[in-house]
Amino acid sequence: MAALVLIAAPGAHSWSKEGHIITCRIAQSLLDEGPAEIVRNLLPDYAGGDLSSLCVWPDQIRHWYKYRWTSPLHFIDTPDKACAFDYSRDCHDPEGTEDMCVAGAVGNFTAQLLHYHHGTSDRRYNLTEALLFLSHFMGDIHQPMHVGFTTDEGGNTIQVRWFRHKSNLHHVWDREIILTALADYYEKDMDLLLQDLQNNLTTGIWADDISSWEECEDPSSCSSRYAVESINLACKWGYNGVTQGETLADEYFDSRMSIVMKRIAQGGVRLAMILNRVFAVHKNHHIPPPT
Ligand SMILES: [Zn+2]
Repeated sequence: MAALVLIAAPGAHSWSKEGHIITCRIAQSLLDEGPAEIVRNLLPDYAGGDLSSLCVWPDQIRHWYKYRWTSPLHFIDTPDKACAFDYSRDCHDPEGTEDMCVAGAVGNFTAQLLHYHHGTSDRRYNLTEALLFLSHFMGDIHQPMHVGFTTDEGGNTIQVRWFRHKSNLHHVWDREIILTALADYYEKDMDLLLQDLQNNLTTGIWADDISSWEECEDPSSCSSRYAVESINLACKWGYNGVTQGETLADEYFDSRMSIVMKRIAQGGVRLAMILNRVFAVHKNHHIPPPT
């Protein structure tokens, strides 16, 4: 396997590195031949052709001066208790700049990648970075608590205990549930978890769902649907009944683990769908129409 260049990702604001890695591994395994080659070509040499090795990169650089503008792109703040996402109302940064949210970022970086087939004459876009941002943000937009309420910062200010240690509700969904699942069911081995999800996709419980997950007339606008799914899940399963200072343990874990796993798989399937379409080798260099 390729050498990983990961450093510890700041934990509080994203699917954990595990969530992003699994999302990207699923996606890369589902790429068609042509798009797979384009992805390998866009990756820097040190990634060894492994997209997942750089899928947490946007979390690592978001506080660097040069990339500070990307910080609002990891999430969406929606009105408290509304349990709804409205792109024109909600997709902006704290200053109100439009499109500066994870749904806008997915659309924007998808559109940038379409320039790949327009050759290298347009150098406004760094397509390697666009690939890494898109791959990361497709993970984030599927993490339900990344489309959360404004006042509690997507659950970040809701302090809870996860079993016996301190955490917060956002982090429970970013990472705690995944780590507990790895420890309880997969011998702490991400490859075993990945294998399980891939079996669910090929022959198991999700095999019949993939085509509906992939439905998308226009890849640059489907992100709103993913955000709506996330806020609905955040309301129904994330926030529901959780109070400040509460201890979350077996009951919460047992009823939420399958949701987390499904969202990771959906993110991977849909990332592959988008990459297969934007990188499709197609004679008129446009996105092929939906079939
Ligand atoms: Zn993120």
